[in-house]
Amino acid sequence: MSKYNFPSIIETNELSNLRLEVRNFIMKSINDGDFSPTADAWVFSANPDFSKKIGTMGWLGMSFPKKYGGHERTALERYVVTEELLASGAPVAAHWIADRQSGSQILRFGTEEQKNLIIPKITSGECFFAIGMSEPDSGSDLASVKTKATKTNDGWKLDGRKIWSTGAHIAHYMIVLARTSPASKENRHEGLSQFLVDLSLPNIKVKGIEDMTGQKHFNETLFDNVILSKESLLGEEGKGWSQVVGELALERSGPERFLSHFTLLEKFISEFRTSLLKSGSSLVGKLISELQTLRRMSFSVASMLQNGDSPETQAAFVKELGNRFEKMMIESLREISNIIPLYEWPTSLQNLFEDATLRIPSNSLRGGTTEIMKGIIARQLGLR
Ligand SMILES: Cc1cc2nc3c(=O)[nH]c(=O)nc-3n(C[C@H](O)[C@H](O)[C@H](O)COP(=O)(O)OP(=O)(O)OC[C@H]3O[C@@H](n4cnc5c(N)ncnc54)[C@H](O)[C@@H]3O)c2cc1C
Repeated sequence: MSKYNFPSIIETNELSNLRLEVRNFIMKSINDGDFSPTADAWVFSANPDFSKKIGTMGWLGMSFPKKYGGHERTALERYVVTEELLASGAPVAAHWIADRQSGSQILRFGTEEQKNLIIPKITSGECFFAIGMSEPDSGSDLASVKTKATKTNDGWKLDGRKIWSTGAHIAHYMIVLARTSPASKENRHEGLSQFLVDLSLPNIKVKGIEDMTGQKHFNETLFDNVILSKESLLGEEGKGWSQVVGELALERSGPERFLSHFTLLEKFISEFRTSLLKSGSSLVGKLISELQTLRRMSFSVASMLQNGDSPETQAAFVKELGNRFEKMMIESLREISNIIPLYEWPTSLQNLFEDATLRIPSNSLRGGTTEIMKGIIARQLGLR
């Protein structure tokens, strides 16, 4: 059997009960007017009050240690909660990055002081993070980052420019990947370090970048002579590359890579259930069966993480196939719009469809491009 298989995982009664609990909470939140479902809500829909409520429910930092305010629950329990929140289009963007990757990164590499300062605020839904990896000339090739941290007597001085930093305008911290010493000829990955940067410090400018929908959810972040304390270093000096690789695995492995536009599919089916029987039902059937396969694969990745494995290849598969699925979904719905013309769609559905159409191109970029994902898969399978 290949070491890159996806073990089949059955959802236990406990997990199904948790799923039900989250669904009831979501239903109540919608009925109470806390939010209206949107598409791609984990990137575009930030609501700090809602994040706080999720924290109160014990659904943030679910697998983090109790001594830092976490709940010591399993990766599968976290998966179930995450999946339900995504499928409902709940406004989870504010806390998403902190809960998905930054908290784990701090738990893994941070000092006791950093953990005590930050983790309890992440689990209560009051501390948000941005990812400071990409730069104008460094996206796929992160080893070429030019943002520089120079050692001073008391700590570090940070200079440089990060780009596409999702949510930096509402985040409290950014984990910045910076060069702390020149790379050697033999190894360009040497000399990088990660920093825990408080975004309220002087000399940091966060400038919104408008996307095709006209929204500003990502940013350019400028660091001009920013003074950082010694304690801002996250993990080991010079080990930023290996740290960042682990962080990327967390970023790429979740169900957000194929559930970003589930609200659109669900609304479409409930609206046109009867008309579909006469026409495009096979297209929708194909979408649902693909989605079900992706869910099983992603659930399996969560179980591997729970067992302490590093399913980097399987996560890259899910991300890549998830991106394809979402693109195919939009194309299928566009095809169906030849049968059921757009003017017959309710306005709310048209809006979801238009937003999704404009946002889909970014899916195969964010979190690593299609070519990079395929490269990882090929390398792990020994094909390159
Ligand atoms: C919506 C969105 C949100 C984002 N949020 C963040 C964020 O919060 N923080 C952050 O740091 N970044 C973020 N990014 C940036 C994202 O990670 C980068 O866009 C991505 O890694 C690609 O980098 P690039 O844009 O510089 O493209 P490039 O790396 O310049 O790539 C250009 C093209 O060349 C191809 N290519 C590059 N290298 C290779 C190779 N070795 N082999 C084959 N093909 C290759 C790529 O696949 C791509 O098609 C976000 C991007 C988007 C779209």
